[in-house]
Amino acid sequence: MRQSQYFLKTSKTAPADDVTVNAKLLEQAGFVEKLMAGVYSYSPLGLRVLRKIEDIIRQEMNAVGGQELLMPMLHPKAIWQKTGGWKKIDVLFKLKSRTEKDFALGQSEEEVVTPLVMKRINSYKDLPVAVYQIHWKFRDELRSKSGILRGVEFLMKDMYSFHESQEDFEKYYEIVKKAYLKIYQRLGLTAKVTEGSGGSFTQKISYEFMVLTDAGEDDILYCDVCEYCVNVEIAKQKAGENCPKCEKGKLNRAKASEVGNVFDLGQKYGKDFDLGFTDQNGEKKYPIMGCYGLGLTRLMGVIVEKFNDEKGIIWPKSVAPFLVHLLALKAAEKETDKIYQDLLAAGVEVLYDDREVSAGVKFADSDLIGIPYRVVVSERTLEKAAVEVKKRSENEAQLINITKLTDAIK
Ligand code: ATP
Ligand code: MG
Repeated sequence: MRQSQYFLKTSKTAPADDVTVNAKLLEQAGFVEKLMAGVYSYSPLGLRVLRKIEDIIRQEMNAVGGQELLMPMLHPKAIWQKTGGWKKIDVLFKLKSRTEKDFALGQSEEEVVTPLVMKRINSYKDLPVAVYQIHWKFRDELRSKSGILRGVEFLMKDMYSFHESQEDFEKYYEIVKKAYLKIYQRLGLTAKVTEGSGGSFTQKISYEFMVLTDAGEDDILYCDVCEYCVNVEIAKQKAGENCPKCEKGKLNRAKASEVGNVFDLGQKYGKDFDLGFTDQNGEKKYPIMGCYGLGLTRLMGVIVEKFNDEKGIIWPKSVAPFLVHLLALKAAEKETDKIYQDLLAAGVEVLYDDREVSAGVKFADSDLIGIPYRVVVSERTLEKAAVEVKKRSENEAQLINITKLTDAIK
């Protein structure tokens, strides 16, 4: 992509009204723009990152047998009354139509997915089923002041599974937990798993996936030896105490952001809609359901909170909008054009800064945007038939022969 033609504008100054690093850097580097607190536009550059995160999540959900579908965001009041959510869920957005009918905006989709799936399930032989979507959610959040970490409108992957028995559900639960940890690892993040309380309705066990960051809104205690981790909200222990699990480590307190969670929904939703299946003995039973949420826009924000320096963002390769930022300095434009074409032909994702601006501006923007490899072509490097390659995460640059560039990058 030629930067001179790209719909992208960086800014010299950070937005004044937001204090979090992700909000400052993402806005300043041109990835997002705030429409109002908790509601953002994503530029072509920002959307590229979101799509990369999406692809990783999609691959891992497909790998555990999840089937992707798409459900409506606009819901009739009746389904939310059926489950009690209309009254009980404080973040639920409610709308009135000019027909006087009431609607809700999806904040989670058990109310839609349960009838959708269970109307098509007759017998235990049709189970298990796991379906998911990657779609926008709406929540009337009170504390949306952490950039894209807490949206009023935000992108979520929500999967729902249906099982004939608790045993079958628990087996699947463990499989999805592992898939989640793989997703975070591929995104360059290390997540800790807490055992949390249930959701709005169930008292069953849930797991929260936490990434340590000062920008997070959760407080957790974690063991410095084993993987034990709890949310402070529910914990019986205090910081500094011995770990109740391994008894060797000490508990540390830290701020964290919840980047995903999984719930055991039990039979609640099947019962609410009175939709069951016929079991092996020919009797009617309600399915055991699991739900599995993962916040994509929050993840993008957490990645920025974790990977940055005083100059800008440092994207992990797996989610970077481009792999290479190619900078043409004065009098090297013709040669750089050719290098650009060669990189494209080799299938490398390149943002090519071909703008008529100073070298200083190009360097500053490149650091701000945070693409993993910066390749600079100048008269000086061309004298040696070379280009200067620098990783965004390192300080030292390297001269690399032009003919070897593609291989070196790959
Ligand atoms: P939180 O405690 O942070 O409000 P939650 O318990 O309400 O999260 P869920 O309803 O389980 O979260 O949603 C699943 C996932 O969606 C969360 O783990 C989180 O990653 C993401 N998420 C939840 N609320 C928001 C939000 N307002 N903005 C961005 N992402 C969110
Ligand atoms: Mg919430």
